[in-house]
Amino acid sequence: MIETSAKVQAFLGQSPVPFYSNGAWMSGSKSMPVENPADKSSLATIAKAVATDAEQAIEAAHIAFQSWQDTTPAERAALLRKLADLCERDAEELSQLEALDVGKPVENARGFDVPFGIECLRYFADLCEQEKFETPLALDGMKQARTVRLPYGVVGFIFPWNFPLTLCQWGIAPALAAGNTVVIKPSEVTPLSTLYLAKLAEEAGFPAGVINVLPGEGPEVGTVFTRHPKVRFVSFTGSSRVGRLIGEACGANLKPVKLELGGKGASIICDDANISAAAAGLAGAITLNTGQVCCTATRWIVHESVASEFIEKVKGELDKVLIKAGMHEDSQMGPLVSERQLKTVNNYIQQGQEQGAEMVYGGKNISDAERSGYFVSPTLLMGSVENICFREEIFGPVAYITIFKDDADALRQVNSLDYGLANSVWTGNNDRAIAIAKKMVSGNSWVNAHNVFAYGLPYGACSASGMGGGVNSRETMLDYTRNLSIAEPEEE
Ligand code: NAD
Repeated sequence: MIETSAKVQAFLGQSPVPFYSNGAWMSGSKSMPVENPADKSSLATIAKAVATDAEQAIEAAHIAFQSWQDTTPAERAALLRKLADLCERDAEELSQLEALDVGKPVENARGFDVPFGIECLRYFADLCEQEKFETPLALDGMKQARTVRLPYGVVGFIFPWNFPLTLCQWGIAPALAAGNTVVIKPSEVTPLSTLYLAKLAEEAGFPAGVINVLPGEGPEVGTVFTRHPKVRFVSFTGSSRVGRLIGEACGANLKPVKLELGGKGASIICDDANISAAAAGLAGAITLNTGQVCCTATRWIVHESVASEFIEKVKGELDKVLIKAGMHEDSQMGPLVSERQLKTVNNYIQQGQEQGAEMVYGGKNISDAERSGYFVSPTLLMGSVENICFREEIFGPVAYITIFKDDADALRQVNSLDYGLANSVWTGNNDRAIAIAKKMVSGNSWVNAHNVFAYGLPYGACSASGMGGGVNSRETMLDYTRNLSIAEPEEE
């Protein structure tokens, strides 16, 4: 178990950890506890924002926008780079906060969440400097004409609990780069790294009101974003259920909205695949972040001729996974994030079996002296495509295996759900891979890998998994701009 850094201890020791609004740290009128999912101990007490706090932050962000919109891309890029440098300086603190709060292995936070988030800040800093926000148009009958892409104003962000730091950076970096100000509601379950990020943003020199962080409950704080007239754009990442509510509320108020929602990713394992690689890759996919990954592969659709070999190899891979509290440096899978999530996962496993699924591996809760929190074993179920565990997002380390006979059958299974976030195909034949990849209805089709991210590679969704330009690309930054045409006709 690693030692909690002095800076993290000091941060968590504030009573309460304040929230950040209009450049000030606020104790608020209410507070809420934050729990360590590895042992159920209290990590901190944080100030809890309520609706009036959200309204004040929105007013402040609106005022800040009046000057922030006139900054140059170079000025905004310089601040984003400064924030990236500070995240790099405090990378260990951010990694520890993610490990403590989400329960994830600290080595994963050190190797992915934190460095990938830093890269995000730098990517959008570069992108906004390169972007031509103004395009002249040569049109008949026009003395002059141009289109200009302008920021919306205040953008309200609502985030889930599974990758709090990285998702926040994926969201706000493009919005800030485009010249918007932001009001952020992190998940009430894992708010700590976002609050720490606000501390670094203050140190980086972002003007008061440009970045505001308000941890609070969704129905109380999040709904303010969807109805407040000074919030000009809403960006929501979370479940499809809440995404629908947000979409409806934004629709009623004619407010543009971007939705990054749930998923039920499928992997097709073909008869000509490298079975060892597929087994290792998918065991990694289902244990990554304890399976609490929106895009991960949770439906494994295996060709009948390789199913036994694949299942034996996956079991071998899962046997090797070290399940420990995230603060152990050798942990490869931590606990689920909360008691609620543990109940959800257990309920699905039970219902899946009641509906006839065969338990192939795992299916147990783990509880001993070292693991007194919300630990479960990786679990494999197998059965028909009608089963609830094939059809619904579980959000735990649970995969559901089905068998296919030919590619058309596999594709029918993949596309039988409304979700459209990410799928993968495993085969040694590239033509077959691309043909299958194009037919899987989603935002992302990966080949011989699952969970593939790179800046410049749009990561979006369709159907019940969301709408908008996704994250991680130029399209994302443009999502946070509105188009204005300016034209002057030639004189008669
Ligand atoms: P959730 O939808 O329950 O909550 C997400 C956020 O919405 C939280 O901050 C919550 O407080 C807030 N919220 C809840 N009810 C609200 C309401 N009525 N009005 C406004 N805000 C409200 O999701 P979760 O359990 O925190 O996260 C897990 C879900 O997020 C999964 O479905 C996962 O697939 C999805 N997710 C999607 C992506 C993506 O990029 N597509 C990324 C990560 C997670």
